[in-house]
Amino acid sequence: MLVVMTHNATAAEIEAVCATITSMGYTPAPMPGAQRTAVGLVGNDGRVDDTLIAELPGVAKIIHVSNPYKQVSREWRPENTIVTIAPGVSFGGEDIPVIAGPCSVETEQQIVESAILVKAAGAIGLRGGAFKPRSSPYSFQGLGKKGLELLALAKRETGLAIVTEAMDDEGAHLVAEVADCIQIGARNMQNYSLLKTVGRIGKPVLLKRGMAATIQDLLLSAEYILSEGNPHVILCERGLRSFDSASRNLFDLTAIPVVHQLSHLPIVADPSHGTGRRDKVMPMARAAVAAGADGLLIEMHPHPDRALSDGAQSLNGEQFAELMHQIRRVAEAVDRQIAGSIAAVA
Ligand code: PEP
Ligand code: MN
Repeated sequence: MLVVMTHNATAAEIEAVCATITSMGYTPAPMPGAQRTAVGLVGNDGRVDDTLIAELPGVAKIIHVSNPYKQVSREWRPENTIVTIAPGVSFGGEDIPVIAGPCSVETEQQIVESAILVKAAGAIGLRGGAFKPRSSPYSFQGLGKKGLELLALAKRETGLAIVTEAMDDEGAHLVAEVADCIQIGARNMQNYSLLKTVGRIGKPVLLKRGMAATIQDLLLSAEYILSEGNPHVILCERGLRSFDSASRNLFDLTAIPVVHQLSHLPIVADPSHGTGRRDKVMPMARAAVAAGADGLLIEMHPHPDRALSDGAQSLNGEQFAELMHQIRRVAEAVDRQIAGSIAAVA
């Protein structure tokens, strides 16, 4: 439930609403806005009797949020949430940041070379997994802590913001020491204890859609993070498992306008996992920007043929630079711009 205050409501009136919500056994979440303050009521499972609150001075109206997800809904917050993961790296505004890098951190040379290449092409963030969720226990599992150290080194060398995955509670705390944004992978989208942990840590979270998750499932998973007090959530469409082996996954671009309608949170697109094929990444990156994506996550490796994971969908440096060139033009056509691109071009 959301209590919308009149535009001239006093601090004492807002405080009285909060106190009444507390006395009813729920938690108040005041949200000052440009036009007016709203006070969210959290902790309820089902409709709340609003009679005590409706009569309080300064209350303009009460909105009963009809969706199972509350704090992530547009009803809760009509304006877009802008998630800033590092100075100048924001998702949800007009600018579209690109985060690129290898699937896995492999060696110092590989990650530093990747960082230099993606930065030169105009990316403002570096991705790369230190903890890798692999389908087979015999596949490369990532360098773990050593991988995080190498990401920290690449950040020192290039200044790029770091996005890297955490797979469990212990890893989340380790990742939080180095990363600007903690990635929760598709396989962990419904790992609710991990979602609560990253909610409590409070750092920005990139939450990838599970490969068999509905958009409602995705939004409910985001709700777990917000309900722990962390509003810095970026959603990510990365493709769904389908019956068709022509691509690795079915890249659901419709999710972008659907999420924009249902939620105020930004949504980025990952055409690398979405397609699984290098030659399909560029067209689908263009399509994602045209569809309104708030950012892109792209796998790039200096030598994709030698990659220890996801080489088939990784672009080399030259291909990545061409992708950046192409998406700049698409962004312009939809009245947006690729973040940092002016500096990179100059
Ligand atoms: C990744 O980003 O490398 C990854 C493992 O992605 P996903 O969780 O979407 O499969
Ligand atoms: Mn990958």
